Amino acid sequence: MHGTGAEPFAIAEHSIAPGTARDVAFPVTTLATGTASSLGVRVLHGARPGPAVFVSAAIHGDEIVGTAVIQRLAQELDPQALGGTVMLVPVANIFGFMTHSRYLPDRRDLNRSFPGSANGSLAGQLANIFYREVVGRCALGIDIHTAAIHRYNLPQIRIAAGNKRLVELAMAFGAPVIIESPLRDGSLRDLAHRQGVDMLLLEAGEALRFDRLSVETGVAGVTRVLAHLGMIEADDGLTEVGIPARANRSVWVRSPRGGVAHFTRESGAPVRKGDLLGCVTGLFGEDAQEMVSPVDGIVIGHATLPVVHQGDALFHIAEIPHPERVGARIETITEAILASEPEGFAEALLDEDEVV
Ligand SMILES: [Zn+2]
Repeated sequence: MHGTGAEPFAIAEHSIAPGTARDVAFPVTTLATGTASSLGVRVLHGARPGPAVFVSAAIHGDEIVGTAVIQRLAQELDPQALGGTVMLVPVANIFGFMTHSRYLPDRRDLNRSFPGSANGSLAGQLANIFYREVVGRCALGIDIHTAAIHRYNLPQIRIAAGNKRLVELAMAFGAPVIIESPLRDGSLRDLAHRQGVDMLLLEAGEALRFDRLSVETGVAGVTRVLAHLGMIEADDGLTEVGIPARANRSVWVRSPRGGVAHFTRESGAPVRKGDLLGCVTGLFGEDAQEMVSPVDGIVIGHATLPVVHQGDALFHIAEIPHPERVGARIETITEAILASEPEGFAEALLDEDEVV
């Protein structure tokens, strides 16, 4: 079912009329307490025919930036004005979301459990429902992640290497950086790839927190992709987007010792090989050991917690030639994304002295 619209959309026991939306709850399993649990999906079924696209968040239960993105999309997308079908899954790992955890109660990683099975583990059952009811109905998926806890990722799109169609969609999304990376076994992207479903993975922000750049990048990016596919009218304000930086190699810089880290660079910064990233000292500030960039590139992720063990990964750097020029381009993209704030948002904020 890769092209839909105009005909009713059949899902579970529902028949969703063109130009309408419906929330569908798929029963997943019964928890230890006997409580039933279900996966919630909103289906926006367009008045006109077009492709089916899903947007999902919190496959890792503590990576909630995409939940905020999907809440905004649910408010802003109008099925009457839509061509094709959009399936919104604000929380894929419903169990980890409740406990602020990346994992499920059975300690499995949902993103390593695809395709799963109806008679499998808790993770396997959830993966299987998500796969059958959402992924299998769509031509394209956009899955939203964040960095792990105590880390921040510069908004970046990750796609399978060597796929021109995905590069085109990633460029349309317009996040500051595009990373082409190998697929992990059992991941949603790996399964989608084998089923011929195009997938964009957005990495943006940090676990258990919202930040404006990440949320705005997600909302604008998904909207631009839908416009690129002809599913919605292109908004003039969305068509102007800088050219994202592209990389297919990245390196981690790890802490040279245990202690207290002081960072001098963060995500988005251009760096040259040998540039100082920060240093780690002992508890009294003694024996500072420096960390320098091993490559020319852009910092695409950084640790936010200064208490570190030796070997902790503190900086993620994408290898990119001409980092200063690319860094300036990234800055224009992030400034444009942040400039697109909704009307009245700035006025609604109070100065600190007005609050007290
Ligand atoms: Zn994740």
